Amino acid sequence: MPRKTAKRARRSPPERDARISSGVSSTSSPGQVKVTRVDALKSRQATRAGTPQSLLNMPLDIVLEILTYLGPRELLQLARTNKAFRAMLMSRTSQSVWKASRRNASVPERPARLSEPAFAHLLYSNYCHICLTLRSVQPMWEYGVRYCGDCKKARFPCMESTIHEEFDGKAFSFFNFLTVRRGPRKHRVYYYHIPEMEYFRSAWHMLGGDKDLRRKFIQENTQLREKKIQFGRFCKLWVGDQAVARAEELDRIREKRLNAIVEKLRAMGYKEEIEWIARDDYAPLSEHRLVRKAEPLTARAWKGMKEEIIDLMDEVRDEWLDRRSPGIEESRIKTRRG
Ligand SMILES: [Zn+2]
Repeated sequence: MPRKTAKRARRSPPERDARISSGVSSTSSPGQVKVTRVDALKSRQATRAGTPQSLLNMPLDIVLEILTYLGPRELLQLARTNKAFRAMLMSRTSQSVWKASRRNASVPERPARLSEPAFAHLLYSNYCHICLTLRSVQPMWEYGVRYCGDCKKARFPCMESTIHEEFDGKAFSFFNFLTVRRGPRKHRVYYYHIPEMEYFRSAWHMLGGDKDLRRKFIQENTQLREKKIQFGRFCKLWVGDQAVARAEELDRIREKRLNAIVEKLRAMGYKEEIEWIARDDYAPLSEHRLVRKAEPLTARAWKGMKEEIIDLMDEVRDEWLDRRSPGIEESRIKTRRG
């Protein structure tokens, strides 16, 4: 039914990615099912050259080779485009693709507890992993999740004293508690992560009363906790570096756009005015909202903004002429608006 198909197509990326966060693959027998799905989709989809879908016409090994040149963010986006790519990228066959892609993009080392798609999901899917909201979501790297404020509250209850006793009085050495200082005396309050607690409880009970096994369990999980904390620190630094790199990239795009506009205005006869404002980093031209956009200047964009920019340059020209000797004003340059 057409209505049903349209509804599926409009489904939000978070909804389609809900399975990724748990690292669950959508196929039980990866190799075969994937190829079948790719083939099945080929017959149903328009595969125009140059579109991601056109990849589906190629042999699987070549497609996988091509995909290694994409970054993890792009792989994640590709997995959202249709079922065939999703099945392909969520399968074990694609592990090497994710790995190569991660290395190309210089992202942090993947923790062993997360699958490749789940790790990319943590790095780049900017929404709550529980309720899928996009509002106020911060990654909690140490826990491998992204929660909104409400879900964080629900998933991090306050620690009860019995928990400490439950784990031979060693809970503080291997639990990754969230700590907050509260009250006038700023005493520490500890919050535990429910999935972590569920895992520890289940594993602990399986050890029975064996003291050696319990000691080993505490030792191993204490080391793992340290690794999680280090991973969190590293990811925070990586996010900072990413933000700096992104800001620099946007600056480069803005600079290129400004230079393109300057060249167009020079060609239109604003040479002296451009030289005059160049001494002040092209202000006010460079401060104009349409000039400051971090987008490449297309012919269409220029057409849409041209009149407004010419008005601005006419004001610049008037000011420039006012500051020159009166005799020179007679030789005003006529603007070529065509
Ligand atoms: Zn939430």
